[in-house]
This record gives sequence, C-alpha cells and structure tokens, in this order.
Amino acid sequence: MKTSLFGALWRTGLAAALLMAAGTGCGFVSQSTEAGTTMNSDHEGTMETVRVRIFDEQGELTAPTETPVVAKSDAQWRDELTPEQFRVLRQAGTERAGTGRLLNEHRDGVYVCAGCSLPLFDSSTKFESCSGWPSFFASIAPENLRERPDYSLSLVRTEVLCARCDGHLGHVFGDGPQPTGLRYCMNSAALNFTPRDELASTGQPVSGGRAEAVLAGGCFWCVEAVFQQLDGVLSVDSGYAGGAAHTANYEAVKTGQTGHAEVVRVLYDPNRISYEDLLRVHFATHDPTQLNRQGPDVGPQYRSAVFYANEQQRTAATAMIKELEEEGKFNGSIVTTLEPLDAFHKAEDYHQNFATQNPTNPYVRSITLPKIEKVRDTFSDMIGD
Ligand SMILES: [Zn+2]
Repeated sequence: MKTSLFGALWRTGLAAALLMAAGTGCGFVSQSTEAGTTMNSDHEGTMETVRVRIFDEQGELTAPTETPVVAKSDAQWRDELTPEQFRVLRQAGTERAGTGRLLNEHRDGVYVCAGCSLPLFDSSTKFESCSGWPSFFASIAPENLRERPDYSLSLVRTEVLCARCDGHLGHVFGDGPQPTGLRYCMNSAALNFTPRDELASTGQPVSGGRAEAVLAGGCFWCVEAVFQQLDGVLSVDSGYAGGAAHTANYEAVKTGQTGHAEVVRVLYDPNRISYEDLLRVHFATHDPTQLNRQGPDVGPQYRSAVFYANEQQRTAATAMIKELEEEGKFNGSIVTTLEPLDAFHKAEDYHQNFATQNPTNPYVRSITLPKIEKVRDTFSDMIGD
C-alpha cells in the first residue's frame, strides 16, 4: 500500500517527464546563515532498550519485548506533564493522601504510566487499602516496574519506578493482601487509566521488536518518502530535532535560527532491517558532503545529520561514515553531524506523508520522486510491498 502510488507514477512515466525547476521547495529557500548546528557534546546518549510487556493491536499483553527506553530532559517532561505529574514522576513527589483522582476508579481496565503509557497495573489487583492512595497487590508484569531502596525518610522503603521512563510511581510495602502480601502504594498523578475495551485501540503493532532512528538529510518530505519504501519500516514521521521544544514548528525552524534540523523518525523492526541498513540508505539518498544545505534547500535546518539515541547508534554512524570516506564514494568530505537525540518533535500534520498526499507538487515531482526511484533501483532487495 505504501508504495502503490509511487509505483503507479513510475509506470506512467509521469514523474520522469516532469523535471521542473526547483525553488518551490520544502517551502523556503533561505540564504546560508551563521546559525550553525548546536552540538550538545556533554550529552553522551545513555539511552538503551528495555524488555517490557506492552499491549499489541489486539489488546493483548505481549511477551517481554525490546523497546527503547523513554529518556527526556526535564524541560521536555515539563512540557508534556501537568505540574503535579512532573512533581510526582520526575521529582519523586507524593500527592496528598485522599486527593488522587484514581482513588475511586472502579472500572475494569489497566493503569498505565502517565509519563510513557507503559502498562503497570490491572484493575483486578486494585484493592481498598484505606491509605489514601490507589493500591494494588500485584503489577501487571514484573518487567515493567523497577524497584530500589529509598532512604529519604527515617525508615527504608522500596521505591517503585516505571521501567521504561524511570518515572517515580510510589512505594511497595509488605502489608498487602494475599496472594502476594504486597501493597503497591501508587500516586494517582503517576498513572492514567485505560478502560478494558479501549486497550486494543491504544495497542501497538508488535512483530518481534521496535526501534527508532532519527535522521536528517534535507527536506523531510524527501527523507520520509525514502524510508517509507523499506521493508521492516513500521512508520515514518516528519519532525524537528536539535532545538528547543518551543521553537519546534515550521515557521520558526525555517528561519534557520532555532538549531533544529528537519528530520524523520523511522520506527522499524530490528529483526527485519538493521540500523546500519537504514544508514546505508540514508547516505545513498542525500549528499552528505553539502554543508547546511541539500540541493535547493539552504540553511542549517537542512543539514545532514544523524541524531543518535544511544551509544550503539553513535558507534554505528561513526563507522559508516569512516567506511564511506575510505571507499571514496563522495567527491568531498562527509560533513554529516552526529548529534545526541534530546527530543523528536513531530511536525505539523500537513507535512506528514507529504509526497504521497501531494504527488503533483512540483518539488515532489522534481526532487522527491527521483530519490524514490533511486531507492527502488539501488535497494530493490530492501523494498517492502
Ligand atoms: Zn513510564
């Protein structure tokens, strides 16, 4: 389905016949500016993956599945959470007893992390502890919780955290009911409730594993369309990375002053396509020797970059660039920047799936479709159906 439109265009020869002058490009062609890339070299990209259970599209809890850890800066968490959620989840705060909004929640369903939506407790294990906080006698999956000793009061308690985003949830005590004898004493602010009949709609497609790659190679319309072709790629979103949340919008980014690059976030199944393969395609479908531009699109927002989420990705990208330099495939030096991924900010809706939605757009015809053709020719063994 994802390739049919482009396939049809190629078969009619329409795209090849329409090499229009560029300039109506990714919206904006600016003069080169001095606002260069912002490298946060003090951030070493500590993110890794964690094996947790999530809900699939049928609303069933999966086997332990490798998923990326959710790591964000305090500023990002403040953007996304309410002040009370931030105080509890990120600063290990405790809500006042008897005030939590989930205290009297009695419906059938699942309690998920308010920070990252990881399933944490089933309503069938909730009980009235009279403590003033929602209480459960078991977790939905031991993998999904992390415990550590908490010495913050004069007694030693066991703190309970979300295994995926490390958000503080509450504490666990040994005075709960059978069959476990445990009392997970949780903050309402750390949890969201999902009714049972909505679990399938909030579930995620799972086929062995999921991982993310965030890559920049000029106008995201093109980069998105390139990766949408590949087998093992689950979804591609256009967005911004490298700058602050409050300027992560097209009007600000196009000035070239925000530090952002136009990027895509590729969600892929690492059992079907590797990060190295994604990098190989990336370097073959843009010009990594162009500094702060890509063809007609000029400005640091169009820079070539790999936003690495962890050490493995950084190492893989470093090795790939070295390999390409040694092969001498390019006429100039590779100027691709390796930048730690602090956050991916999804772009406005009208930028998503742009090439598919706008096949007659002059930029799509002259710039994007030739890239698609190149991917389909060069990486025919990697093309999905
Ligand atoms: Zn979480």
